[in-house]
Amino acid sequence: MGTDEPARRRAVFLDRDGVINKNVLNPSTGRQEAPLTAVEFELIPGVGDALLRLQRSGFLLFLVSNQSNYAKSKSSLEELDAIHNRLLRELTALRVEFAAFYYCLHHPEGVLDGYAGACVCRKPSPYFLLKAAAEFDVDLAQSWMVGDRVTDVLCGRAAGARTILIRADGAASPEAAPDRVAADLAEAAETICRTTAERLSELQIEAL
Ligand SMILES: [Mg+2]
Ligand SMILES: [Zn+2]
Repeated sequence: MGTDEPARRRAVFLDRDGVINKNVLNPSTGRQEAPLTAVEFELIPGVGDALLRLQRSGFLLFLVSNQSNYAKSKSSLEELDAIHNRLLRELTALRVEFAAFYYCLHHPEGVLDGYAGACVCRKPSPYFLLKAAAEFDVDLAQSWMVGDRVTDVLCGRAAGARTILIRADGAASPEAAPDRVAADLAEAAETICRTTAERLSELQIEAL
């Protein structure tokens, strides 16, 4: 019976800023943050190849991004849309296909009605991963969450996925306790593909 059942899909859930595109220095805060305009949007080198590699290894790709700049009145919906459209255009040109893009536009300290206060979807909530699992028949135990913040790791773990923290300096992050640490998405994709291949060969040996 088991072999007649269609296999559930594996997925990689990806944070956006600092993983797929570069963060941008915000002069008013002095911090590296999400781009505020499409002109500032720039893919990190190697991201296209890393995503293609995951896609060809059978992973569905999902974007899971907190975008609170509208709730904070720092960005308009048109600007957020323009950034999303640029991302989509660049990925499409590279033949990378995402199954879905999930954005949380809320923020607890937001100022705009309807976007301020608590919400169900802001990471570290696993809301979007659980939604994807239900809608795309994703097996979360065979899936990964990749992000550059502790909240990304907490989100992935809460959903039952494995987690990779992107740390440009390669330093471990004991407070987040991710399953793996990678310098960038290319290294994360390498880890995911290698781990998956090892696991599949173990399963084949067990089945002998
Ligand atoms: Mg990020
Ligand atoms: Zn939300």
